[in-house]
Amino acid sequence: MEDNKTKPTLLKCVVLGSSNVGKTSLLTKFVHGKFSEERRATTGADFASKVLKLGDGNEVRLVIWDTAGQERFHHGTLGAAFYRGADGALLVYDTTDIRTFEQIEMWRGELLQRVEAPGDFPVVVVGNKIDLPSETRDQEQTAVMTWCRDLGIGLVNTSAKDGTGVDAAMEAIAALALENRRRRDARASQAPREPSAFTLDTLDRRDSTSSSCCK
Ligand code: GDP
Ligand code: MG
Repeated sequence: MEDNKTKPTLLKCVVLGSSNVGKTSLLTKFVHGKFSEERRATTGADFASKVLKLGDGNEVRLVIWDTAGQERFHHGTLGAAFYRGADGALLVYDTTDIRTFEQIEMWRGELLQRVEAPGDFPVVVVGNKIDLPSETRDQEQTAVMTWCRDLGIGLVNTSAKDGTGVDAAMEAIAALALENRRRRDARASQAPREPSAFTLDTLDRRDSTSSSCCK
């Protein structure tokens, strides 16, 4: 059971959300501890990783995939490689622009269509840019919290600028993804030896998810 104490478990997390909400900034702050006001056009599928020690003592290497800026043009254009083997997702919105929260629903829809096991896929909603003033944030926060609660999704407010909540958001998705991975591995090992056509298909998909996590 505790055989992976020494080697961090590799977990892939994708970061989704509309353009300009701060996805790249969150990733950069988390991995490099840096923030820039400049808007760098993201080119190519970017990812970066960092080892995290979770509250329960487990170590994971979180490999975080950023969009390559395609979200600027229209949705549904993120390539298969982006989603392949993903263990969890951060759905990011900008707390100073409620429209980006409304778009979260769309991002979640796309995510659940593209991942291999949408039923229990780990997701955390991230409300970014809380360092900036917003007259409507408090009212909106209630709607956001209700939406998240109804779907059983965790919510973390962050500032990629001053670092508030960034580690907490990453730790939250890492913990959920690790738990989900273990649950699925346990289920796979308990599966009957001669599965029906249906379970055979399910197992195939499960196997590919747990083994094809990015390097
Ligand atoms: P992306 O398109 O979602 O990847 O967004 P970026 O990370 O490129 O950020 C878009 C703009 O918002 C940039 O000018 C960032 O400097 C700025 N930004 C991102 N996160 C924050 C934040 O938490 N606070 C503030 N004040 N600005 C932010
Ligand atoms: Mg970006």
